[in-house]
Amino acid sequence: MTTYEVLKEYFGYHSFRVGQEGLIHGILEGEDVLGIMPTSGGKSLCYQIPSLLMKGTTLVISPLISLMKDQVDTLTEIGIPAAYINSTLSDQEIKIILNNIQDGKYRLVYVAPERLKSYDFFHLASHIELPFIAVDEAHCISQWGHDFRPSYKEIPKFIKNLNHRPVVAAFTATATPEIIEDIKHLLHLQSPKEIITSFDRPNLFFQVEREVDKKTFVIDYIKKHKDQSGIIYCSTRKEVEGLGTLLQNKGYGASIYHGGMTKEERERAQESFLYDETSIMVATNAFGMGIDKSNVRFVLHYNIPQSMEAYYQEAGRAGRDGEKSDCILLFSPQDVIKQKFLIQESQPDPDRATASYKNLQYLVDYCYTHHCLRHKILDYFGQSELQENCNNCSSCLEDKKLKEITIEAQKILSCVYRMKQQYGSTLVAQVLKGSKNKKLLNFGLNRLSTYGIMPNYTEKEIRLMISILVSQGYLALTQSQFPVVRLTSSSGAVLKNEEKVYMAIDTVPESQSGHEEVHKDLFEELRSLRKNLSQEKNVPPYIIFADSSLREMATTLP
Ligand code: ADP
Ligand code: MG
Ligand code: ZN
Repeated sequence: MTTYEVLKEYFGYHSFRVGQEGLIHGILEGEDVLGIMPTSGGKSLCYQIPSLLMKGTTLVISPLISLMKDQVDTLTEIGIPAAYINSTLSDQEIKIILNNIQDGKYRLVYVAPERLKSYDFFHLASHIELPFIAVDEAHCISQWGHDFRPSYKEIPKFIKNLNHRPVVAAFTATATPEIIEDIKHLLHLQSPKEIITSFDRPNLFFQVEREVDKKTFVIDYIKKHKDQSGIIYCSTRKEVEGLGTLLQNKGYGASIYHGGMTKEERERAQESFLYDETSIMVATNAFGMGIDKSNVRFVLHYNIPQSMEAYYQEAGRAGRDGEKSDCILLFSPQDVIKQKFLIQESQPDPDRATASYKNLQYLVDYCYTHHCLRHKILDYFGQSELQENCNNCSSCLEDKKLKEITIEAQKILSCVYRMKQQYGSTLVAQVLKGSKNKKLLNFGLNRLSTYGIMPNYTEKEIRLMISILVSQGYLALTQSQFPVVRLTSSSGAVLKNEEKVYMAIDTVPESQSGHEEVHKDLFEELRSLRKNLSQEKNVPPYIIFADSSLREMATTLP
């Protein structure tokens, strides 16, 4: 049989997707391969088809227990003998499967990476015909990714100890250069044939909403998209529960999913979403890797995730069937503070913390840009050769009115310069506004010539403009929890009137009311976050706030 015949006869498809054929042929010719395709690009077929055309059994290593079962069920249905081994099976069941493997009964065997440590399994693998190992979600081997799994480090040891080295194929939807290097290096791929397909997903509509009331937005959106299937990602368990309950109380069929639920509860939630009993899934990022639900019509992010990579992977779960779908990120500056707090709490290695702040900042810039969102996404994956306007994102379609803010930008840049590039955006904004903040007076910043030169804007508006200047590259933030604002090589052009600066008008917030309230809520949330964190591991008994007014408030609270 040819690869095309297998595609047609077994899987019922009539053409290969971009990249599939090249990877399949590489494997069949005995080359190691590295396949980098976006979520839902069709990576599974790239190892399933070769397994049918090679003698012996193919081993698929995957961290995703639910995916293993789904794929094995599907394969069995279409007449391909396959099995999986993971912690959901009893010892007795595993024994039967191991015997079957010994007898060469399966074409494909899926295993979780932990299994590779078992001597019995290794012994078996060394004594059967094993021409090919596929490593799915290969980015899990890299500590730079958002999904690091220590057990992935077992893979190269396992392969090395086999009598005969099989062809090794690695697959991932992660395209950042550090991680790709890690995969090739740590998995010991031998001059792999590398295929990176376009990361563009033309059927996805990208949108960023700033300064909206999130709850109202979500409810309005769901009302307008009745009975459509969608995922709403929140950053914390508490938020998942809050929003999930709200939707349920309003009569919407919503499941919730987070790491704090029992295994049974999570399975039930997942199944009722997969089988369309509930149309909405409210979840933390614990939900979704490997979920192959084709008709997800929208993915809303209630909070900003930790990086563009994580965002694109989560948002990419919409529209797997190629139909038009929405990916909407609800942005609020408070969520950025929260993410930074989480980085600070969870990342003891300063280099990696810096990398995490930088990854987060890229996504923050995405939220502030008035240029094409798709362009910004693809730029992250090194694929911005796309045309300037995609006409399928909120920046391109909403035809935002632009306001020139060159003069404001000049004032801000000069103020940063006068402040010797040593302070964060809160203090810069306070100086420009002419605030009487005690800290500012103590530092003598009220004597600067830029003190009080933007009296007609609120501090919040000035901070917004600073964020916009950062997103456009006219200012930079140091990569830390309390970033300092710095000038960049592009600042000069604005100061010398050689370049104009614009912002989209709808990004100007209406008023400052409710500011204190938001801070109080945020304080509560950070406090409970830190409580949860300290239950999980040993963290020092203090809490650091990203905002001076919060820190002041904290001293007055128990
Ligand atoms: P990935 O692992 O890259 O996220 P999957 O392998 O789960 O993606 O494939 C996503 C969907 O695309 C699946 O429903 C799969 O059946 C479908 N698919 C894969 N290859 C093709 C193809 N050549 N033609 C049509 N559909 C395909
Ligand atoms: Mg996959
Ligand atoms: Zn666009």
